[in-house]
Order: sequence, then C-alpha cells, then structure tokens
Amino acid sequence: MTSLWPPPWSHCDVTTPDPCSGTPIGAHTKCLAHLVPADRAAYLAGLAPGADINVRGSRITAPPSCANFLLRFALPGAPV
Ligand SMILES: [Zn+2]
Repeated sequence: MTSLWPPPWSHCDVTTPDPCSGTPIGAHTKCLAHLVPADRAAYLAGLAPGADINVRGSRITAPPSCANFLLRFALPGAPV
C-alpha cells in the first residue's frame, strides 16, 4: 500500500492526534482548520468574491455557516 504521508505539498505543522495534510494559509504554518480563531477570522475577513483560496488537504468540519461561506467563493452565484 502506498503511503499518503507526507503529502507532496507544503502542509500544516499540526501532528497530533494525527498529522495534518492541510495547506498552510498565507504565511502561517497551519491550515484553515487549525489556525487560531483570530487568524482564521482575519483570513476569512480578507477574502472577497473571486478570491483564490487553497484548502488542499484540509479537513473542513466547521459549522455549516463556515462551509457556506467558503462555497460562496468557490461557486459564485450558487445558492447557500
Ligand atoms: Zn491543519
């Protein structure tokens, strides 16, 4: 079986309870899921429609409102 770890991209520095394969956000060392709330809020507040976001390898288990927020950027015009 082929190992999926480490992923072939720069990844989050969280290692417990499991290594995280999420792409770090901006200059941070953590993915969107693992950013501290203030950093996550600042990142999300800085986004505008049409912005490129990269959550490759990130596990999104946020409340539906957060997922809907991200979908508005991925699929402009989609009902959320
Ligand atoms: Zn992470």
